[in-house]
Amino acid sequence: MDKIEVIGAKAHNLKNIDVVIPREKLTVITGLSGSGKSSLAFDTIYAEGQRRYMETLSAYSRQFVGNMERPEVESITGLSPVIAIEQKSTNKNPRSTVGTVTDINDFLRLLYARASTAYSYITGEKMVKYTQKEIAALITKEYEGKKCIILSPIIKGRKGHYQDLFVSLAKKGFLYARIDGEMREIISIDKLDRYKIHNIELVIDRIKIGESSQDRLAKSITDAFRHGKGTLMLAEIDSDKTRYYSQNLMCSSTGISYNEPAPHSFSFNSPHGACQKCNGLGLEAIFEVDKIIPDMKSTISQGGIEPIGKQKKNITFLILEALGKRHGFTLDMQIKEIDDDVLNIIINGDTEPLMIDPRSIGIFSPSSLLMWEGVAAYIDKSIEDETMTTKGQKWRAQFLNYKSCSECNGSRLNKQAQYFKIDNKNIAEVCSMSITDMKVWVDSLNGRLNKRESAIAQEVIKEVSTRLSFLLGVGLGYLSLQRGSATLSGGESQRIRLATQIGTKLINVLYILDEPSIGLHQRDNKKLIDSLLTLRDRGNSVIVVEHDEDMMRNADWIIDIGEGAGIHGGNVSAIGTIDDIMKSDTFTAKYLSGECKIERSHPINTKKGNKIVLKGARGNNLKSVDVEFPLGKMICVTGVSGSGKSSLINGTLRPILSNEFYNSLDRPLEYDSIKGITHIDKVIVVDQYPIGRTPRSNLATYTSLFADIRKLFEQTTDAKIRGFKQGRFSFNVKGGRCEECKGAGVKNIEMNFLPNVYVTCPSCRGDRYNRETLAVRFKGKNINNILNMTVNEAYDFFEPISHIALRLNAIKSVGLGYLTLGQPSTTLSGGESQRIKLAAELSKRDSGNTLYIFDEPTTGLHFEDIRILLGVFEKLVEKGNTVIIIEHNLDVIRCADYIIDIGAEGGDAGGNVVVCGTPAEVKACKESYTGRYI
Ligand code: ADP
Ligand code: ADP
Ligand code: ZN
Ligand code: ZN
Repeated sequence: MDKIEVIGAKAHNLKNIDVVIPREKLTVITGLSGSGKSSLAFDTIYAEGQRRYMETLSAYSRQFVGNMERPEVESITGLSPVIAIEQKSTNKNPRSTVGTVTDINDFLRLLYARASTAYSYITGEKMVKYTQKEIAALITKEYEGKKCIILSPIIKGRKGHYQDLFVSLAKKGFLYARIDGEMREIISIDKLDRYKIHNIELVIDRIKIGESSQDRLAKSITDAFRHGKGTLMLAEIDSDKTRYYSQNLMCSSTGISYNEPAPHSFSFNSPHGACQKCNGLGLEAIFEVDKIIPDMKSTISQGGIEPIGKQKKNITFLILEALGKRHGFTLDMQIKEIDDDVLNIIINGDTEPLMIDPRSIGIFSPSSLLMWEGVAAYIDKSIEDETMTTKGQKWRAQFLNYKSCSECNGSRLNKQAQYFKIDNKNIAEVCSMSITDMKVWVDSLNGRLNKRESAIAQEVIKEVSTRLSFLLGVGLGYLSLQRGSATLSGGESQRIRLATQIGTKLINVLYILDEPSIGLHQRDNKKLIDSLLTLRDRGNSVIVVEHDEDMMRNADWIIDIGEGAGIHGGNVSAIGTIDDIMKSDTFTAKYLSGECKIERSHPINTKKGNKIVLKGARGNNLKSVDVEFPLGKMICVTGVSGSGKSSLINGTLRPILSNEFYNSLDRPLEYDSIKGITHIDKVIVVDQYPIGRTPRSNLATYTSLFADIRKLFEQTTDAKIRGFKQGRFSFNVKGGRCEECKGAGVKNIEMNFLPNVYVTCPSCRGDRYNRETLAVRFKGKNINNILNMTVNEAYDFFEPISHIALRLNAIKSVGLGYLTLGQPSTTLSGGESQRIKLAAELSKRDSGNTLYIFDEPTTGLHFEDIRILLGVFEKLVEKGNTVIIIEHNLDVIRCADYIIDIGAEGGDAGGNVVVCGTPAEVKACKESYTGRYI
């Protein structure tokens, strides 16, 4: 079968459409935002693929993974196993890194287990490993004529009473053991102190070296190794000298020995490899004096110790006063006058209790001894009952600083793991290189390993190298393997998953991707397309939901969904090769042919005016850059992925401003100074996070339109007669809603072992409210009729009521007129959410001095959507506001008043300002990649 056939797709807004998709080809699904692309790609094709996969599982496994709904489609034929590579970066696990998700760490660990050289972490000398014969010879040579005891270490520094152990040793016929350095007869021991740490060594033999036969020594060594798991000790009688011998890797001068390395010895997610202090997280949280006491010139009574606040009549301050008497400070002296070691006691606690008389603060209980446990302990105690609430955690976090773990220096690995090296580098050092550098290093290894090593390692090196080249292929050379997954952007993690899939070499799979070009500079777009073509040429079908022109031009097949969005979309407007599409009269065709263009309606603003000047920004890869943001303009921040755009805007500028205007707890990355903030009076960040996480929130609740509408209902005569207040018209509280479906209008019927089914609520027939509530009408419509209106309809209906009409108009102006007021927010796309937020901001009274920050607002937007959005930006700027946009879309960049181009490359080779100025000025700059593409 050479095609996938979808018949009768009806998910969401899809209008019962049939689509043919060629197999083993690259297919692009495009169309306006909200036209139904994801409904076709993800909610129909992917959902059906998933469901079929689930059916192959046993009923037993299915009850754990849940039931899958059957997508609303008549039939799909020709489907292969489906893998979706989405943007949603769900992996917030701090143990997941680029190296772990790409499986490259697995191969590296294998490489280190097989081909590395071990060094002693004490002396740095090469570890050695002997056979039993070699050890016998060594002992004979060194201890000739001396009386020695051969011991097997069986317990090393562990707690326990070990009663059973002694019983079993006695049964096996052993007579003596050395316990914590003291020689004892085993049958005389009952049990040890279970709360103490013990070392137990079993006595295997006492011999005079050289006199007894070599056979006896050899046999004792064998026995000792057997009981000591590969290690033995030799103790000289008449001296306290003890030496270790090991069949494993051993440092000959200190006796430390390493276990034979296995892949798990190098995993920070395994107890064998992880640093014990930070458990393999690489970070340690430390309370910071500067954060606990922001102003050293203040006094304790004034509230200088921020977490405990101003002086009150309570036990905390009473103890502090007593503590002051003991250590020579008062609550009214400036904190900087207090000695450092006393300050340390204030923060971390005292060792001796203090006598406190609580009656002096009006608490009638006898004097007692109390311990000052320190501000740090105070902070921890304050949030004890609400540890799980994020608020308490956030409050605590503001006094903390995360530092690299002091034990492993952030490498996450234990000492032993760090001392296995290849070419003088341990595995953590390799993981901290950029992927570009690491590829060079790995490829150079073959020439530098010795023959044996290289024979063992060759295959593994090849695997690592090809996987690295896939990552380079999707433009991620600036990342390192140690980078935490949680810190990656959606586009980066999607491209990592893509590279990983290419590495798995599967064939006959259907891959579905969601705008893989997000976050990618035009320069790297070609590489991304090539990666997708590689997947295809290996015999896979690839479907991408995408708006990028180059991607369309490289696709074998295009499906254009339209014509409009929401209820105006859901049809196949055009389908076929690029030539077929160009012959149609869809928006896509018009933009591709140049008939429609994204252009500014106003000339570029080059006027000189106020500006914000940020100096010395050096977060992540930023090279202490100074940047000017001219106010009242539309500013685009550009540069290849990883060049430092987010570090500059989201990491530095945004937190500085939100600290200034909203006292937020976000910490900016490092910088020296900022000037000009006084020229703006508000900062608004419009991101793509969902506007609500439950189906009970929607467009109307988010923009607080619904509250105003409910007020209108409260004021109707109908409602007044019945005594209904506005709460009556909410579907989220008891009273007016239908209790059968709790205001959802649908009921979820759980059918064991069968997919869940949503049915219209039998009680309210989908109307969400009870009959009494629905009897109340405003201009002939009940509250549920209103929730079912599209924004366009609602605008016409509410036109005379200006405060409501104004908000609806703002939503229309960002191109979302097709959404219904009651559509659950969980079903909105990222682009839709972002524009709802923008609309909500637009309908507020703006001061004309607002600074807006957007991060790739074109995500999910078709050419035509972008044109509308640009119009909104222009309006904002016209009123005097400033718009800062991180963007790769060339149409948007061309329309900017001012461009700040960061780079030139990603990672270490980036972090500089390459050029600033108008699009024409950037175009003229030879060093700027952005300039080359404008
Ligand atoms: P696109 O991917 O083209 O941006 P979608 O397929 O996400 O569009 O959405 C098509 C239409 O269906 C939009 O109006 C969207 O709001 C709506 N929609 C999406 N998901 C749901 C859902 N779970 N329930 C109801 N409507 C939905
Ligand atoms: P851009 O936004 O231009 O794609 P970023 O500011 O995200 O670039 O990244 C700039 C550099 O800083 C890159 O080398 C990136 O790997 C690094 N970086 C970004 N965020 C982090 C982070 N949370 N931890 C470590 N390195 C980071
Ligand atoms: Zn550590
Ligand atoms: Zn109901």
